[in-house]
Amino acid sequence: MLQFTNRRPLPTLCVHLFKSYGLIQHFNLDPVSVWKLFSIIEDGYHWRNPYHNAVHAADVTQAMHCFLQENMILEHLTPLEIFCALLAAVTHDLDHPGVNQPFLIATSNHLAALYKNSSVLENHHWRSAMGCLMESGISTVLGPELVLQVEEQIKSLVLATDITRQKEFLDRLTEYLETNTLDMTLPEVRHFVLQIALKCADICNPCRPWDISRKWSMKVCEEFFRQGDYERQLNLPVTGLCDRYSTSVPKIQTGT
Ligand SMILES: [Zn+2]
Repeated sequence: MLQFTNRRPLPTLCVHLFKSYGLIQHFNLDPVSVWKLFSIIEDGYHWRNPYHNAVHAADVTQAMHCFLQENMILEHLTPLEIFCALLAAVTHDLDHPGVNQPFLIATSNHLAALYKNSSVLENHHWRSAMGCLMESGISTVLGPELVLQVEEQIKSLVLATDITRQKEFLDRLTEYLETNTLDMTLPEVRHFVLQIALKCADICNPCRPWDISRKWSMKVCEEFFRQGDYERQLNLPVTGLCDRYSTSVPKIQTGT
């Protein structure tokens, strides 16, 4: 992806998607500002992270686009919902430091204090997304009312990617399916479906062709192992998942 987009995966992919969903026209956006928005977002990802970098963001956004193509979803979505779904996908790990929340708490990172040890990374990601929207000038074009709606949706979508909230979402999805109440004409149901779509897009690596899926597995494990190395250097207890000497890529991938 890096090679084909001249190392600009996010602006290349997202400007194309914004155009093809008619969002540039609908919101009367300047294509140069849209390119600027996604360039700023891309610059907010860290290339030093083996996994949580701009290519992961592009991968998740592409997967979100695939889910949005489902007719029973797409026919009900408003342009604002599509705008938010794509923006949440592309920013859902923005400025990810390459370590997890327990590490940030254990090292008294300022982000842990700022977000009171709760959904620390996810809160940082959506707030950074809103910063990019402002910096690009897009929020001025949208106007305060729409920006407020975007903020509400982006916040809720990105916070849903907090893996510790998995049960809450699975229980609600199960209830919708068992009671046959997944009514896509209701805005709250559409929002819930987009939350589920983003969560699925975020962990869809194993659904990719084997050679791609395998590369993602190696990358995510390398990021875990780096955290384990930092923990060792700092004399902190080494997280089991992050200990390159006691676990392995197959064990991590199978959750054993
Ligand atoms: Zn992610």
